[in-house]
Amino acid sequence: MEITGSIQEVREKVKEWKKQGLSVGLVPTMGYLHEGHKSLIVRAAAENDKVVVSDFVNPIQFGVNEDLSTYPRDIELDKKLCIDAGADLIFHPEPKEMYAEDFSTYVEAQNVSAELCGKKRPGHFRGVCTVVCKLFHIVTPERAYFGQKDAQQLAVIRRMVRDLNMDIQIVGCPIIREEDGLAKSSRNTYLNEKERKAALVLSRAIFHGEEMMKNGERSAEVILTAMQNMIEAEPLAKIDYVEMTDADSIEPLKEAKGRVLVAIAVYIGKTRLIDNFILDMQEAGLQ
Ligand code: AMP
Repeated sequence: MEITGSIQEVREKVKEWKKQGLSVGLVPTMGYLHEGHKSLIVRAAAENDKVVVSDFVNPIQFGVNEDLSTYPRDIELDKKLCIDAGADLIFHPEPKEMYAEDFSTYVEAQNVSAELCGKKRPGHFRGVCTVVCKLFHIVTPERAYFGQKDAQQLAVIRRMVRDLNMDIQIVGCPIIREEDGLAKSSRNTYLNEKERKAALVLSRAIFHGEEMMKNGERSAEVILTAMQNMIEAEPLAKIDYVEMTDADSIEPLKEAKGRVLVAIAVYIGKTRLIDNFILDMQEAGLQ
């Protein structure tokens, strides 16, 4: 496996592969890789001849009061995990390689970015779309892999790809959790022991909401209130949002219908964590 910070070197490598008729899968990440990222890389390696993992803490998707400077980084750990998972190349650029000083061109998927994290983190998805668009142009993959852990991000990327006619297949992958239920996240490392226990309230609320829906409850108000009550019972937790939307359009729903996303963002102390479930009502035999 190779690692480079140079756009030029990635282009040369990919050109060589394509000349040999090899397919390329891309896994965009911000590094500090864990089993969630690994599941994406393993899937990409199974479905493509070559896999590129981008490992870049993208400054333009962070708000001014967010954790850009403290976001965990460990490239040695990332290298090991990438080798294990079957990646061929890590693209690990410096911010100045990605953004010229007078950089001024952005990609924005409107509507689908309006709710949930888009509402709470203004400019976040503009930063995500812009960097992913750049990575698509640099790597020119046949397929790109994203986790359902960031369900709105997945919907936003699918919309961008459709709207801008990008010839790339977007593959969504399931949420990988710790044994006790907590969704794996690089940000879990911020949690102290007490907070780590308190953080279980996210997955508990998610599983509870999903169970209610599977048992026939359709009212967003009833489901979301039950989830909110559960979260509010945890003293270290502070709700940022608990919402039900359509999983593709990210439009708010009053009643569970179609492909439903229930998404939550909760502060545990100073750490903001997200979790969600998606239920296809038709597939589940509920519609
Ligand atoms: P990040 O490094 O947080 O930007 O995440 C990079 C990619 O890994 C995104 O597509 C995430 O949705 C995905 N990802 C992060 N955590 C998980 C998880 N626990 N399970 C599945 N995918 C994940």
